[in-house]
Amino acid sequence: MTVGWDADAMVQAWPGLPPLAGDASADACVVGLGASGLAAVEALLSRGLSVIGVDAGRVAAGAAGRNGGFLLGGPELPLHQAIAAWGPAVVDLYRETLAEIDTLEAVLPPGVLRRTGSIRLAGLPGPARDADEQHDREQEAQDCRAHAAALREHGIAVEDYDGPLGVGFFVPDDAAVNPAVRALTLARGLEHRAALREHTPVSRVQAGSVTTAHGVVTAPVVIVAVDGRLDRLVPQLAGRVRTARLQMLATAPVAPRLDCPVYGRWGYDYAQQGVDGRLYVGGGRDRHAEAEWTYAAEPTPGVQGWIEDVAARMAGGPVTVQDRWAASAGFSAEGRPLCVRVADGVVAVGGYDGTGNLVGPVAARAAVAYALDGTEPPPYLAA
Ligand SMILES: Cc1cc2nc3c(=O)[nH]c(=O)nc-3n(C[C@H](O)[C@H](O)[C@H](O)COP(=O)(O)OP(=O)(O)OC[C@H]3O[C@@H](n4cnc5c(N)ncnc54)[C@H](O)[C@@H]3O)c2cc1C
Repeated sequence: MTVGWDADAMVQAWPGLPPLAGDASADACVVGLGASGLAAVEALLSRGLSVIGVDAGRVAAGAAGRNGGFLLGGPELPLHQAIAAWGPAVVDLYRETLAEIDTLEAVLPPGVLRRTGSIRLAGLPGPARDADEQHDREQEAQDCRAHAAALREHGIAVEDYDGPLGVGFFVPDDAAVNPAVRALTLARGLEHRAALREHTPVSRVQAGSVTTAHGVVTAPVVIVAVDGRLDRLVPQLAGRVRTARLQMLATAPVAPRLDCPVYGRWGYDYAQQGVDGRLYVGGGRDRHAEAEWTYAAEPTPGVQGWIEDVAARMAGGPVTVQDRWAASAGFSAEGRPLCVRVADGVVAVGGYDGTGNLVGPVAARAAVAYALDGTEPPPYLAA
């Protein structure tokens, strides 16, 4: 298994951070150094607190560094469905995630975040292969129209799309990123202000303490930001969040084809073309749904075969696959992401349903406010 994003020179040059060296104490401890945990570290530092952050592996070696790199406004559900399911407060979440893109654009070096917009397609590129696919595509085209109407109604920029990839809509404010570069760059900016410790797996989180393989961190405030495997680390959340495997691949460079991240077939399949010309393609989880409810994070032939076909459809011709990988993501039983006080001073976030690049940092900041000030999480999060 090799991760396509890791070919970037910035990732290759990552020198690593030391593991925890024995017992330690701080005002706050953050467990999990993906994009959510790093946002929590930053929020805690901005309150003037001392912070220890720990991760079982490298910074963003989990989903945060292995995902599609889509920075899409809003929650996992299309806006019209999310409003119907969670109420109008979800529009606030949409605005928070757009603001998160602006923040990231301001702090990341030029070129890391590309303000490309995104396309939602009805179906996948190319002609429908059979009557079932054609029918599904027509149903999805209707859903795209309802989705775009909800965006317009709430003042979010959206344009109809009818082009070489198919039909759907274009959202100009969305963005694309190499997710590993995003997270490592943010960690680089925090490492001199917080004690960030890699290769430090946590076995237990309690009020006031975090037990790791290399010592115990004593801290009155603990933010748990692990998303995938959250149900393992915080067993009382086992009924509320479940871990699934999501898979991706990266191709050899192809001719310019995708100007922005593209997702289709009800969002199950997705691809972006990196600045290196390679296609980064994921999806197919629904094709092997039961098998993908797993803590394993290795790619499998079934899902990889599906996304290889998606890659060819996105490319408009045959592709050569260079990397295949997978990672764990947390799915919320309630639909809304979790921001839950699990013990005195301990708040856990996660359950982003495979769409946590922006929602995760929003939830992590809410967790910090909950833990420090007792501010109840906003209604688009499940407390
Ligand atoms: C293949 C794939 C594609 C995706 N595509 C997109 C996308 O395009 N856009 C989008 O918005 N979202 C996408 N997602 C979802 C997104 O990656 C996640 O929602 C997001 O990364 C969650 O961030 P996080 O920081 O909360 O958790 P993670 O990224 O999962 O990071 C958690 C960290 O916690 C660490 N950890 C776990 N257990 C322990 C422990 N016991 N002790 C110490 N550390 C621990 C892990 O090592 C990891 O580094 C995708 C996910 C996958 C897997």
